[in-house]
Amino acid sequence: MVDYLIVGLGLAGIAFCERLEQQGRTFSVINDDSQTSSNIAGGLYNPVLLKRFSLAWKADEQLKMILPFYKNLEDKLKITLDYKVPVLRIFASVEEQNLWFEAADKKKLQPYLSTKLLDNNNPCIKAPFGFGEVLHTGRVDTKVLAKAYSGYLSKKKLLDPETFNFDELKIGTDYFSYRTIKAKRIVFATGYGLKSNKYFNYLPLNGTKGELLTINAPLLKEERVIKSSVFIIPVGNNLYRIGATYKWKDKSNEPTLEARRELKAKLDTFLNCDYKIVNHVAGIRPAVADRRPLVGKHPVYNHMYLLNGFGSRGVMIAPYASRQLLEFIENGRVIDPEMDISRYDKDYIEV
Ligand SMILES: Cc1cc2nc3c(=O)[nH]c(=O)nc-3n(C[C@H](O)[C@H](O)[C@H](O)COP(=O)(O)OP(=O)(O)OC[C@H]3O[C@@H](n4cnc5c(N)ncnc54)[C@H](O)[C@@H]3O)c2cc1C
Repeated sequence: MVDYLIVGLGLAGIAFCERLEQQGRTFSVINDDSQTSSNIAGGLYNPVLLKRFSLAWKADEQLKMILPFYKNLEDKLKITLDYKVPVLRIFASVEEQNLWFEAADKKKLQPYLSTKLLDNNNPCIKAPFGFGEVLHTGRVDTKVLAKAYSGYLSKKKLLDPETFNFDELKIGTDYFSYRTIKAKRIVFATGYGLKSNKYFNYLPLNGTKGELLTINAPLLKEERVIKSSVFIIPVGNNLYRIGATYKWKDKSNEPTLEARRELKAKLDTFLNCDYKIVNHVAGIRPAVADRRPLVGKHPVYNHMYLLNGFGSRGVMIAPYASRQLLEFIENGRVIDPEMDISRYDKDYIEV
């Protein structure tokens, strides 16, 4: 018997496995490739919402946690994950510059918004009003992480690369059994796959499709992340990721011509050099109506838990939410009420 069965190995599942290993708990994981979000994400971490110049939810607490979290993973898996790159926001006008400096004066934002107005000296970028720099930002290579972590668990024979079949789950009084696995607890971390989870699909997970292009732009020579109507994210070897789109209706993981055109049109408004599109990917962000994660215990079944709803900020939220869930299960500590799924208990319909 293992302590935990985990379904899903995106950022949420990986973060929870890490917490379990740190606590010396035993576990088994089942994961398929039906969802792609963690594999294709831009991977940025950034404490500031750049549309409104406001602080992201719990950004202070999350930032403190992510640096040691990804560093531990780098050491353990012997890979590089965390690239500490600055994020520059292109100003569209003098008014926007003023809004930035007003925001930078606010106590909460002071640590994160530089008060220097940066001039543009890259001929490939159109930015006549310059840039504002967000501090304490970076990029985690989530694709490299997902691959390395699956490999790590596979070697230890802890990963079953299959689709979880809900009909085969047996719920006992003290444990769950699923095929040959017996586990004291079960944690679902399936991203948008929650929609086919009969125990938790009463929750208001919307899912927002996002698409990203990769371009090859040898003349661009830019090492910082540039944000205008889309992000330009340098990933090395003259390659840059461009994104992302936000679509609420299409729930497939297939790249679309419409998104490719949209991203290209937006990019062309501020990129002034030749480039070639060399890749195009899509995924569904597990987004929630109230923009808060979905973390906690099932309203009826004891020992059945959920870790989901990270929306477009999985890199920062995963270490934070996974820790809270484990401390709740193991030590009875209260989950932040804003993300505790008990806020939706009234919507639960008996299965
Ligand atoms: C285009 C795009 C760009 C993004 N950029 C960023 C960014 O720059 N920064 C950032 O922080 N976040 C970003 N995100 C968001 C980020 O990707 C998500 O917040 C995060 O990956 C969600 O992780 P997850 O583990 O909850 O879900 P997922 O990544 O969807 O993982 C769930 C896993 O469970 C598996 N699964 C599902 N159902 C089953 C089943 N029945 N049986 C077995 N396995 C199952 C899936 O196949 C998958 O492997 C982006 C997302 C997109 C789409």
